[in-house]
Amino acid sequence: MSQDGAMLRVAGVADTCTTLGPGVRAVVWVQGCERGCPGCIAPEKQNPSGGYNIPVEDIAAHISSLIPIEGVTLSGGEPFLQSGPLALLIKLIQRRRPLSIMAYTGFTLQYLREFGKADQKDLLAHLDILVDGPFIIERATAKRWRGSDNQCVHFLTPRYARLADQLDDDTFCLDVQVGKDGTVIWMGIPPPGFRERFEKGLGLRQIRLKCLS
Ligand code: SF4
Repeated sequence: MSQDGAMLRVAGVADTCTTLGPGVRAVVWVQGCERGCPGCIAPEKQNPSGGYNIPVEDIAAHISSLIPIEGVTLSGGEPFLQSGPLALLIKLIQRRRPLSIMAYTGFTLQYLREFGKADQKDLLAHLDILVDGPFIIERATAKRWRGSDNQCVHFLTPRYARLADQLDDDTFCLDVQVGKDGTVIWMGIPPPGFRERFEKGLGLRQIRLKCLS
């Protein structure tokens, strides 16, 4: 397993999140996506030159040290455009702790299985859960972990199969955290238009906001 100098381009990392997968999870939002879905909740994560580079080993060490979490969710941006570094990240984490792994992608599972590159298939092989498909604003949904109902939650291992009958739950949940500098950080998958209303409302109160959805 070579790890010398491997880097990830990320938009952000959260130490704890409860709305993007089972239980309490760390989240890595990679930077860069070519899909350009209308209504994308996080258009600032599409430009591959945005965000910042971070050594894979540094993220692996940090995430492995987070006591409360049971897993890691990979979001974006498009995780499968950085499959090699992400597969390495998972291997480095799981050498230290058996954390579960979930990922989002705009590709379909069928496409990745049939036409995916070797590193994309390697990443796929390390996932417990994959939420696949692009966001389609006309099919927006509040169902658990998804933005639109063309997206599917695939349990790729038996680890969370017990949750399969809970996926139609449409209770709208967000994580809201206040950083040490007073910045309000929010995470989750809100309905279309929510982000603008929420951030405008808080902005009027001169609260610093950071979206990591
Ligand atoms: S795949 Fe996701 S990150 Fe990429 S444009 Fe679509 S909604 Fe945005």
